[in-house]
Amino acid sequence: MRTIAFLVLSMISARIACAQSTAQDTVLIDTDSSFDVNYVKFDLSVRPDTEYIAGSVEFRAHANALRPDRTIQLSLRGQLSVDSLFNDGTPATFNHFGDKLFVTLNHSYSPSAPFDLVIYYHGFSTSPDRVGFIHTWQNWDPATGIPISWSWGEPFGMKDWWPCKDNPADKLDSADLYFTCDKPYMIGSNGTLVGVADHDTSQTFHWHESYPIDHYLLAFVCTQFDTLTHWHRWADGDSTKIMHFVFPGSVDTMGPELGLVDSILNLYEGWFGPYAFRKEKYGIAQWHGGGMENETLSFCNDADSGLVAHETAHQWFGDAITCKTWNDCWLNEGFATYVADLFMRQNHGVPYFNDVISSREQNVTSQPDGTVHTPDSLLLTDVLNDRLVYDKGALLLHMLNFVLGSDSAFFRCLREYVTGPLRYGVAGAEDFRTSVEKSSGRDLKWFFDEWVYGDGYPIYDVAWNAQDSLHPSVAISQTGSTPNSPLFTMPIELEFIGSDIDTTVQVWDDAPLKPFGFTFSNPVTRLVFDPHNWLLDGSLPRTLAVHSAISSSPSEFRITKLLNSYSADFSVDKSGPVSIEIYDLLGRQIAMIPLGIQEAGSHSIPWRTETPLSPGAYFCRLISERSNDEIAKFMVGN
Ligand SMILES: [Zn+2]
Repeated sequence: MRTIAFLVLSMISARIACAQSTAQDTVLIDTDSSFDVNYVKFDLSVRPDTEYIAGSVEFRAHANALRPDRTIQLSLRGQLSVDSLFNDGTPATFNHFGDKLFVTLNHSYSPSAPFDLVIYYHGFSTSPDRVGFIHTWQNWDPATGIPISWSWGEPFGMKDWWPCKDNPADKLDSADLYFTCDKPYMIGSNGTLVGVADHDTSQTFHWHESYPIDHYLLAFVCTQFDTLTHWHRWADGDSTKIMHFVFPGSVDTMGPELGLVDSILNLYEGWFGPYAFRKEKYGIAQWHGGGMENETLSFCNDADSGLVAHETAHQWFGDAITCKTWNDCWLNEGFATYVADLFMRQNHGVPYFNDVISSREQNVTSQPDGTVHTPDSLLLTDVLNDRLVYDKGALLLHMLNFVLGSDSAFFRCLREYVTGPLRYGVAGAEDFRTSVEKSSGRDLKWFFDEWVYGDGYPIYDVAWNAQDSLHPSVAISQTGSTPNSPLFTMPIELEFIGSDIDTTVQVWDDAPLKPFGFTFSNPVTRLVFDPHNWLLDGSLPRTLAVHSAISSSPSEFRITKLLNSYSADFSVDKSGPVSIEIYDLLGRQIAMIPLGIQEAGSHSIPWRTETPLSPGAYFCRLISERSNDEIAKFMVGN
């Protein structure tokens, strides 16, 4: 899902904002594990010019361990009225309280026993905080006279238009979707169009989804459409129907542009294995909600390549495998974001891709804190957090790509994840970790602990000294962006450049300050830290010229030898305690020296160690109230 249009934002963000204020009583998911839903059948009448809906939803479910009172919990907006409810053909009692629908089953079904539920209901879903069922006009203009309505399930929109079990963990095996609307309007939906029944002034569209599908990926869009249909030929000779639904006025522009869908599908199949819904269809349906990856029919504003690449990526990551809980929505959104970036790299080149990665990094580091794994999965702003779930989730995968060592290793891990035992099911972060560990043969708990659950990101300072330009030494100092941040253990690329040398080496950084020594056959004069910008550290690749003792920090932190002591020259931007730590070239801490409380400004403070320092090179880390520490290198002579 991607919300991109400002018009959409202005219209819908007001609704989302309203939803926030009543989040506690509107978005609670259904945690009722006493039953599982296996199949749903919609028989619903909808209109493009209003959010009125009427008809029935049939569930086929099975019991797990029912409560003694045989009550099960569903979700349905309080403003929609339940007319009657049947359990295995017999009227059953229910209590529609707020947005919850409690049903008392007629029998106490034993575990695994199937049961059937049919719910007849009707009503308007028009309150301002509803996003799951919306009507507007094509091109946003009532003057065009063509109304459009759509459903929008992710993450909490289902109950706005149908009585559902509002929990992504309970995936359906299949679904039948009958939608009736007046002519000349049409309904686009999931799966295969089985048939269209004519009723003089109206039509019933029967769609059938034969593959497993999550509740929130069931969807419809109702308006006047032109359909563009052809057969997509896969590399292995198999074919899948392509069926796009575009506004009649958009055919000339969108028709040719949607040709990119075929190339995206081929690219993704090559990277991640077969499209999961080959025997049904794939298509893009035009709407005004940004993008939404409804299974086999993505809803997109237009044929923007980034948007279409994102929603199509979801067919692998989000639809074929769906996040088990909304805490791990990054398994949907971080994946679709990064996969679309990789498509853009393929189509627009590496410089374009690098700019996109940098802009995502800027967005993530615009605030110091936050985790990819969402701690509170019941707030819309957390589940679909653009900075953390989309961008930090995408950069997590970018770093996993780096850690795994190559695109081919990364693609193989993702392919085995999405075509393995989890295909057509649901997954959490730990399921993904287990899958990648199995594929790669690597222990990746450390990576997931740091980047999925860890707060913030690392901020690096780099000191290097190439006075002996054949044997440079480098020290990497790391500070977390928040006090809660973990130590981020990561491989780091260092590029050394001289007149006759340009070589990139990879070091393993696993300490708050870690020195490294190198030997080269030709003199090196420049060092580039993280030259390919793999790291989420809030910085672009940085070039340090020789003898620039340090650092990325704007202020100069220097250690100067005095007669019988040393001087630390530094500046701080706010008042607070300052201290320095001395490390030798093996990374061993030699001394920690408090320099007292210092006011904001520049200082030159003399210090000495209890025992004289042995001759050699040292790194000194300045610890102050600044967000990141600084390091300096100094020599002690004989
Ligand atoms: Zn998305």
